[in-house]
Amino acid sequence: MAHDVALIPGDGIGPEITEAMRRVVDASGAQISWHVAEAGAAQIERCGTPLPPETIELVRELGVAIKGPVTTPVGMGFRSVNVALRHTFDLYACVRPCRSLPGDGSRYRDVDVVIVRENTEDLYAGIEFEPDAPEVERLAELVAASGQKAFRPGSAISVKPISAEGSRRIVTYAFEYARRCGRKKVTAVHKANIMKATDGLFLRVAREVAESYPDIAFEDKIVDACCMGLVQDPGQFDVLVLPNLYGDIVSDLCAGLVGGLGMAPGANIGDKLAVFEATHGSAPDIAGKDIANPTAEILSAAMMLDHLGEAEAAARVRAAVTATLAEGTTVTADVRRALTGSVAGAAGTAAFADAVIACMSK
Ligand code: NAD
Repeated sequence: MAHDVALIPGDGIGPEITEAMRRVVDASGAQISWHVAEAGAAQIERCGTPLPPETIELVRELGVAIKGPVTTPVGMGFRSVNVALRHTFDLYACVRPCRSLPGDGSRYRDVDVVIVRENTEDLYAGIEFEPDAPEVERLAELVAASGQKAFRPGSAISVKPISAEGSRRIVTYAFEYARRCGRKKVTAVHKANIMKATDGLFLRVAREVAESYPDIAFEDKIVDACCMGLVQDPGQFDVLVLPNLYGDIVSDLCAGLVGGLGMAPGANIGDKLAVFEATHGSAPDIAGKDIANPTAEILSAAMMLDHLGEAEAAARVRAAVTATLAEGTTVTADVRRALTGSVAGAAGTAAFADAVIACMSK
């Protein structure tokens, strides 16, 4: 029986990489019935929002979606479609495996780190006040009354809520993931030396949760030291669990260890729903040129196939991507540049997908 999956192509390089991904999945032996849904700035004119209600309803109904990236204006304009989807469906766990592949173009070998990022709280909660908002004055009064240091008049404020409940479920998810996947260690990443209330709470809860998993090693690291450790010796890390913003930043750092953003897949998981997507954004600088690397989106689809119980198809997809990269003749410009210093002879997005499909039929 075919699995019904919502496919949100997104914008920028989204349509190109999701088309490549769809062709690879269709060739993997898994039966998928794709239901295309739109999101992004182009929808605002049509229905007044970048995330149309029919897209939300389709994802709710099908329970599984895979999406391309969606552009979010910087500093002003509408809020992120990606953040809205994660909040609407309470997709609290963002799972991003970063594994070295042969021929990935990275200077690092044998990296195998899994990021488990909290997806709903922290500075991504979307509670913000512009400098001239009346709430800023009221907040200033509250802060003054609490006896804490004042902030400058006319400051903009972004609120960083971190709850015990939100921390407990993401850290528990990380330990359960570690147990299920045979991983040895969970590292909680924080800045509790400075943000004693918010990150302090996250760390306290992480330590508590760790006590229930004596079979998995536990440590904590301050986020800046963790970044240095990752660059110096990524082999010391296994599963990292992080609040939202550090998770976002460390995800890109780890993508850089395994060949770049074109290589890093991901999944947003809730209790009822899952939305799969690459770590990278819409890459407007290369959109529409058939040069984007679809590997991250294809590997996100492999995670989706596992989630759907199609482990064999998922393994076929991963093996074909690995073999195509290892062979090294049909690789996209980002990988080619990393390997040879030049993009001469690079394959396009569609040609790379063709090579992966050809590998599967060998
Ligand atoms: P980005 O990830 O889009 O691009 C960063 C750099 O990596 C660019 O040079 C880009 O060309 C390159 N890159 C990214 N993906 C690639 C791929 N598959 N193949 C080859 N090169 C690739 O980050 P950005 O430029 O900061 O963000 C662009 C837009 O994407 C912003 O509007 C941002 O808000 C949005 N964004 C969306 C998501 C999402 O939809 N989940 C995630 C991150 C950023």
